Amino acid sequence: MNGLFKYIASIAKGVKTLVDGMRVTGYYFIRPKLIVTQQYPENRETLKMFDRYRGEVTMPHNEKNEHRCTGCGICELNCPNGSIEVISKSIEVDGKKKRIIDKHIYHLAMCTMCNLCVKSCPSDALAMGQKFEHAVWDRSKLIKVLNQPGSHITQDIKE
Ligand code: SF4
Ligand code: SF4
Repeated sequence: MNGLFKYIASIAKGVKTLVDGMRVTGYYFIRPKLIVTQQYPENRETLKMFDRYRGEVTMPHNEKNEHRCTGCGICELNCPNGSIEVISKSIEVDGKKKRIIDKHIYHLAMCTMCNLCVKSCPSDALAMGQKFEHAVWDRSKLIKVLNQPGSHITQDIKE
């Protein structure tokens, strides 16, 4: 008799658990606007990441293909895992030698998105981008040169 009682009690508990779960499902079924589940990748065109999302390090360029990087190397020094390599070159301006950025290399595969490079850049030359699809077949594609071909430093930084 005691065994039968336990058996019936366990069935009743199972039914109650099922009803509890279905209550949550039913609540959202009649309030579809409250559902936060994203239908990815079907919503790829409209999907917008939240403001603080860090997807990759970028170097913003303006419409004249100008950036703010002086090639000082501070971001490279501050990156905790060697994800940045700053290669600078020497040029002559008005008879004086000057160092400028040649390649700002970013190893996306190693980056932990800690944001230290962005915070430490004295020229405000870096920013975190919101791109979230980085899958590639060839891992060499995860090594990026952030300063665009033919780009120059902006006049306001030069002065
Ligand atoms: S991104 Fe900023 S910190 Fe890094 S080399 Fe350029 S100016 Fe210096
Ligand atoms: S976000 Fe962090 S890990 Fe990534 S490049 Fe910048 S400093 Fe390095």
